[in-house]
Amino acid sequence: MKKHKSDPKGWGDATKLVRGGLDRSPHGETSEALYLNSGFVYDEPETAEKRFAGEDDGYVYGRYGNPTVSMFEERLALLEGAEACYALASGMASVFGALACQLKAGDHLVSSKALFGSCYQVVTSILPRFGIKTTLVDGADLNAWRDAITRDTKCVFLETPSNPTLDVIDLEAVCGIANAAGANIVVDNIFATPILQRPLNYGADVIVYSGTKHMDGQGRVLGGAIMSTRKFKEEQLKPFLRHTGPSISPFNAWILLKGLETLKLRVEAQSHAAHKIAETLSGFDGVTRVLYPHLDSHPAAALSRKQMKLGGTMVTFEVAGGKKKAFDVLRHLGIIDISNNLGDAKSLMTHPASTTHRNIGAEARAMMGITDGMLRLSVGLEDVEDLTADLKQALAA
Ligand SMILES: *Cc1c(COP(=O)(O)O)cnc(C)c1O
Repeated sequence: MKKHKSDPKGWGDATKLVRGGLDRSPHGETSEALYLNSGFVYDEPETAEKRFAGEDDGYVYGRYGNPTVSMFEERLALLEGAEACYALASGMASVFGALACQLKAGDHLVSSKALFGSCYQVVTSILPRFGIKTTLVDGADLNAWRDAITRDTKCVFLETPSNPTLDVIDLEAVCGIANAAGANIVVDNIFATPILQRPLNYGADVIVYSGTKHMDGQGRVLGGAIMSTRKFKEEQLKPFLRHTGPSISPFNAWILLKGLETLKLRVEAQSHAAHKIAETLSGFDGVTRVLYPHLDSHPAAALSRKQMKLGGTMVTFEVAGGKKKAFDVLRHLGIIDISNNLGDAKSLMTHPASTTHRNIGAEARAMMGITDGMLRLSVGLEDVEDLTADLKQALAA
């Protein structure tokens, strides 16, 4: 069936999220079809030969592509305003794939130091095993970026806002520095989502996502995606990813497609609630610090208002009394769950020092500003009044 009767590029975000990439079968189903198959058959041997030769763009094998996965990729690329998207099994498969596909022994990578635990491991421990040299910088310090990025720097990686300290990095400035040096910029845009922040507009080259977080947003599946130019997808991503195999399951891609339909509604509602909760928490006894990008007290409040539409769905705060008090707060939660996942319809709270950022060690945590009294809250879709009351009683207990 004919895909779109009007030009999808002219649609608003909500329309793109509901209808982008929709490719109906001859049956004319309303919802996106789930093609739960691993292989494909051909009427003639010549067809198979042509597809393997790249002369016919039909499907050949699940590791290379699938019609449901293609719909997910097309919808996301349309939303982001990217030429191409490559869907993968998880956010980490996307982070690793986006970096490893373009780096080789002897290359230099510069990264912001405030990173999600697994991203930190990839940058500081896994890539160096293959001879890649890495330099970590304080993301807020533009001079540190200028000093670290040289003509020999092949790639720049950053996360903004960062997990869990919600550091905000100036995308326009850092992309400008990296572009001038000829380095490829990879941005982990997982916390902001494409609803709130578009790094491509500031000069980023590659954007990575975890579908697991806001895109599913309902705690069901793992997934990930890399957004790039068509050239980067064809020349760097495909040769690396097709042969190493971190493919997304068509079932997971189908769940994520359905998740995208409500992404804008959920992220906006969760962000408005998070902002209110950040303001309320700032006035609570025993809360020594609240980190939220759009809060006046955030060190980069003006910058985050410039590059992020809303402050995001995450609030990080610190309680007086260290780990013991932080654990007490978690133990006394009545609605909010203790969980290290994020971006979910259910509000979730974790103690980063003992979970997501446990393995990086005390020294790296201190460098990133992750303290023992720090708690990270992912704000869900419940009534804000219920969440505030839950936080209030847990802090007072
Ligand atoms: C969760 C997360 C990832 C990894 O995503 P998975 O889908 O869990 O593999 C990467 N970066 C950030 C900032 C994250 O929060």
